[in-house]
Amino acid sequence: MPERIVIIGGGESGTGAALLASQKGFEVFLSDAGSLKEEYRNELSHHGIAFEEGGHSLDNILNADYVVKSPGISDKTEIIKAIREKGIRIIGEVEFAFHFKGKGRIVAITGTNGKSTTTVLTYHLFRNAGLDCAACGNIGYSFARQVVFKPCDVYVLEISSFQLDDIVDFRPEIAILTNITEDHLDRYDYQFEKYIRSKFRIVMNQKENDAFIYNADDEVITKAMNQPGFIGYDIKSTLFPISMKKEIPMGAFIKDGDMYLRTGNEFTRMSIFDFALKGKHNYYNTMAACVASSLMEIRNEKIREALRSFEALEHRMEPVATIRGVEFINDSKSTNVNSTWYALESMTKPVILILGGLDKGNDYSLLTDLVKEKVKAIVCLGKDNRRIHEAFQSIVPVIIDTDSAEKAVHAAYRLAEKGDVVLLSPACASFDLFKNYEDRGKQFKKAVKEL
Ligand code: ADP
Repeated sequence: MPERIVIIGGGESGTGAALLASQKGFEVFLSDAGSLKEEYRNELSHHGIAFEEGGHSLDNILNADYVVKSPGISDKTEIIKAIREKGIRIIGEVEFAFHFKGKGRIVAITGTNGKSTTTVLTYHLFRNAGLDCAACGNIGYSFARQVVFKPCDVYVLEISSFQLDDIVDFRPEIAILTNITEDHLDRYDYQFEKYIRSKFRIVMNQKENDAFIYNADDEVITKAMNQPGFIGYDIKSTLFPISMKKEIPMGAFIKDGDMYLRTGNEFTRMSIFDFALKGKHNYYNTMAACVASSLMEIRNEKIREALRSFEALEHRMEPVATIRGVEFINDSKSTNVNSTWYALESMTKPVILILGGLDKGNDYSLLTDLVKEKVKAIVCLGKDNRRIHEAFQSIVPVIIDTDSAEKAVHAAYRLAEKGDVVLLSPACASFDLFKNYEDRGKQFKKAVKEL
């Protein structure tokens, strides 16, 4: 009798896991409390995979040999509690796919911000050097789907903390931790320590010959690493820190406009003026991707070449247009205070800041100094903007409320003068007024182009 695998959640991860389980000959059942996207429904039917939507039928679930859980589903949901009570083993989709990846090597990237940028840049560097690789996980195809349809030599995996929570043996050969700031605390009982530990699970199973690339200027990361017992295990990995503040013997650092990169015997120097990605935060992302490339033995010339040719991702500090001397930038992917901090930090002109949306308990005081220094006016783009007014009313002379991308763009344009920049960097999720951050960014760009 084949083992019975039940998959909870039918999004990209769940459907990917179902396809993989079915390909490997398991008996598969997928259950989703909501409704499935049509493409996933069709795909499951096409592969003859049993599923239900709009609720969970315990009879079909509690007879599982084990359960694969999608990362979007919290441990606190009734169904997961019921499965645990029954003593059925639960793993995540990333863990599941890991067991079937064959000889494929893994570079895994996590962090509060910069995951997608670093993943796609790393992929670009690898591809340019001729590696057979894919960027997947929390971006593009789920890891499981990639293993089913296009297994490859190297998986560049973007991994969220939710995905890390459900790993057991998952072990990347190279792990990257971009940074850690407060986010998603609702899933971690509002305890920052739990979120930090979750991020560090990326190195949990690494051995001495695996590499750990991390931001050595991030005090949350270094404090956690230096506090005995905090993470819960000893990090065995070989360490490759990156820094913009100090020279380090191994890894990468930036000094006087040059990046110094070392993973073997000697340092290589590259000018940061050759980096296609600008801004301090992107220098960290670029250093991390370069260290990973160097560890994969990609030649320096190839690295340089690919850094120049990389095109930035949509919705991340994306230049949209300059209209009558006013520049518009789309940073809709900024859904927390930290990424807005980096966006503001990189601004060299006076800013009209479009801020707001669904607030996950933001601490706006982190932005106070930069807002004082650079922001002329704030245009709120959200249903409930009270917390933004409270945080900034004493330091920003003009704060206005809007409830659509179009109104926000018009208001910002009216307030802007030649030489200013209008920056959409909301620090909040988008779900109060938009489908998602892409929708918010697209509507913003459309409104700018129609000015
Ligand atoms: P993630 O996948 O972790 O959400 P993205 O690369 O999509 O990260 O970027 C999300 C937001 O964070 C964007 O606003 C981007 O400009 C900003 N950002 C990118 N890299 C970093 C970084 N290293 N530190 C802080 N903010 C960053």
